Amino acid sequence: MAAADTVPILLPVFLVTELLCACNTVQLWSLKKAGVAGTRSWLLANVAMLGYLPALALRTALPLVFSVVLSNGLGLVAASAFYIGCARFLGRPTHVRALSLMVLSAVLALLWFTLAEDSILIRIVVSSGGIAIVFAATAALLACHRPAEQRAAVYWLCVACSAATSLLHLLRSLYYGAGFGNLQDLFATTLPNVFSMSLTAALVPGLSMLAVAMVQEHLLSDATFRAERDGMTGVLTRQCFETRSMQLIQQAEARALPLCLVLMDLDHFKQINDRHGHQAGDQVLLTFCNLLRQGLRPGDMVGRMGGEEFALLLPQIHAAQAMALAERLRQGAAAMPATSLGGSIPYSVSMGLSVWQPGLSFHELYRHADLALYAAKRAGRNQVMQAAQSD
Ligand code: GH3
Ligand code: MG
Ligand code: MG
Repeated sequence: MAAADTVPILLPVFLVTELLCACNTVQLWSLKKAGVAGTRSWLLANVAMLGYLPALALRTALPLVFSVVLSNGLGLVAASAFYIGCARFLGRPTHVRALSLMVLSAVLALLWFTLAEDSILIRIVVSSGGIAIVFAATAALLACHRPAEQRAAVYWLCVACSAATSLLHLLRSLYYGAGFGNLQDLFATTLPNVFSMSLTAALVPGLSMLAVAMVQEHLLSDATFRAERDGMTGVLTRQCFETRSMQLIQQAEARALPLCLVLMDLDHFKQINDRHGHQAGDQVLLTFCNLLRQGLRPGDMVGRMGGEEFALLLPQIHAAQAMALAERLRQGAAAMPATSLGGSIPYSVSMGLSVWQPGLSFHELYRHADLALYAAKRAGRNQVMQAAQSD
């Protein structure tokens, strides 16, 4: 079949791909201002793909050197920019120099094997081989460095699509390199051609859509993290702490597990502010929160209940161990003064501990701990008191 007859058959496939690429470009463009690392490179990859397909489709209309070098060059730029986007997104080395060198060498080779020595076979091996290598590296990079906030389904689909793109181009370069296929008409509607073109048409916009999904996932998790955290200390906000505590109490109720709550209030904090200044007071709060983070077990929760009041929810712990943990934290605070520009600022903390019993609500548990905290303050501060069981 002549090229002129066969191009239109694949034209709808190209048009759909082009349209999807255009939609992805607009989406990445609007996501660009969120400043997520990698978005600009993925946008560049998309723009290169927008140019790649028309250049490929216009092979018969454009001079060979123009269409071959332009389309394959853009294909290699798109693959490299996609890799760089992934590397930036994951905070890994981007290898921009090595990739630029690879694209440049490939373009020079394409020029040579078009102008000096006309070899379509070598051109296919160079362009498809290059794309196969870059996407294999992309799949490996993604597979080894999944960020905790990325949902498995989207992320592993992106790994799978990168690997599939690499495999497709590897098979293409082996297929033509081994002398199979009709080198005179790359658009002939043979099964391998239609299969490879259709897969490319799905994988190219698919990869961009997955990149968009990864950016959105990152933004969502970032926004959730910020909404749940106290801006200054980084511990949970009161609202989030209460919601999560209620969930943990439900779990404790369902599985008959022990649980304790500790309320903590920094002693004479107003005097610290008055003596050392508000900024130094902030420094004391930060020092105390760092101490808490270091002294807790995985699964324990810290929340800022207001001003200089904090709470700990300790799941799966009995009263004696919880008292020991609270006492360790109290001693740690008393032993390690905060430091600010004005020098060292000693501080202390009073604590009230309540032990959860089946049937007790979060608010009742909280009230018991609050009474114990009040007792600790009245008893002279800088101590831990346990709520009476009968409270
Ligand atoms: P007590 O030992 O009885 O708890 O005395 P206190 O001085 O710690 O308690 P009080 O409730 O009288 O004062 C708490 C102070 O904490 C008053 C408030 O200005 C200060 N404070 C609240 N939030 C912050 C903050 O984010 N930064 C700083 N520097 N101070 C804060
Ligand atoms: Mg206080
Ligand atoms: Mg207070």
